[in-house]
Formats: sequence, C-alpha cells, structure tokens
Amino acid sequence: MEHRAYIGVGSNQGRKEENCRRAVREIGRMPQTRLREVSTWFVTEPWGAASTEWYVNGVVAVDTGLQPATLLQRCQALEKEMGRRPGPRRWADRVIDLDILFFNDMVLEGPELTIPHPELHRRRFVLVPLCEIAPDLKHARLGSDIRELLARVEDNLRVHEVAAPQGA
Ligand code: ATP
Ligand code: CA
Ligand code: CA
Repeated sequence: MEHRAYIGVGSNQGRKEENCRRAVREIGRMPQTRLREVSTWFVTEPWGAASTEWYVNGVVAVDTGLQPATLLQRCQALEKEMGRRPGPRRWADRVIDLDILFFNDMVLEGPELTIPHPELHRRRFVLVPLCEIAPDLKHARLGSDIRELLARVEDNLRVHEVAAPQGA
C-alpha cells in the first residue's frame, strides 16, 4: 500500500543547498519510496534564538510503502550519515534536518513522532515551499489547507527563493 508523505528538508551548516539536494536524492533511494514533487529552495531566517545562521529549506512529496516510524528511522539514519551530530539544544545548527510534515491524513501524537508536524502551521519557511507543491493539501488536525495556513501565519521571519530545482 502506497502512502503520501511530505518531508521538510533544511540545512544551515556547510554547503547548505548541496546538503539539501543530496538529502532529497537519498530520500528518493529509500526502499519502496519514490519522489513525487520537490519544491524550490529557499533561504530562510533561522527559527528560534538558537542560531543566527540562515537556512536553506524546501519540501518534498514522496509516495512510500514504508510505515511512518520506519520513514522517521530512515530519515534519522540519513541525517546521521550526512554528519549530523546530536546538538547541545533544540534548533542548534545542523548539516541536515528532515521532518515528516504529513503522512496521508494521519493524526498521531506519540513520544517519537507527531503527525502532522506540530509546528508546521506556525512556520513560514515550511508553508512557503509546501504551498508551491501542495496548496490544496488539507491539514488533518486543523482542517485548513496550506494556502489558508500561509495566508494566516504570523511568523515574519524572512523566506527568499534561491533557485528552481535542477533535477532531484
Ligand atoms: P522541530 O521538531 O521543532 O522542527 P528539530 O527538528 O530541531 O525541532 P530534532 O532535534 O530534529 O528537532 O528532533 C527531535 C525529535 O523530534 C526527534 O527525535 C523525533 O523523535 C521527534 N519528532 C516528533 N515528530 C516528528 C516528525 N513529525 N518528524 C521528525 N521528527 C519528529
Ligand atoms: Ca525541524
Ligand atoms: Ca527534526
């Protein structure tokens, strides 16, 4: 059975855009998983007070046969493989960050995994790329689509488009 998942991709260390592109390529190589959409990349002001180093952010859509917990494990393994070390605190600088934003229309609040991602509707740097590839996607818990969430978001941190995707 195929599931549709949306994954947020971000990097604020090293060659940020290249890190993001590599992560997308590797996501496409996960078992039973195919890339469906890749957003444009954006340069974004860092969220939280943990860093002043800007991010590159984007979002991908995949069709996958993996279960959510397995997809999360794969994403965490990839983060580690790409050199991410456990940070001193939340939102610390990182080579790559992969967050599961949506998984079908699942609503889940577990110790390891919350779906939809609990902060996505508050973050412009997630909603802007998401709105490119899935404006009509409905947030299973809030009932609004991405276009509406973006119109309402109060986050004023800056989000600038950098470049159109050149392949995955
Ligand atoms: P934020 O979640 O606010 O974006 P972060 O990405 O910096 O912060 P991490 O340190 O990368 O946070 O992850 C902390 C934990 O979040 C992970 O160990 C994971 O178990 C948990 N988590 C819960 N829901 C999700 C999700 N939807 N996608 C990815 N990780 C999640
Ligand atoms: Ca994150
Ligand atoms: Ca994360």
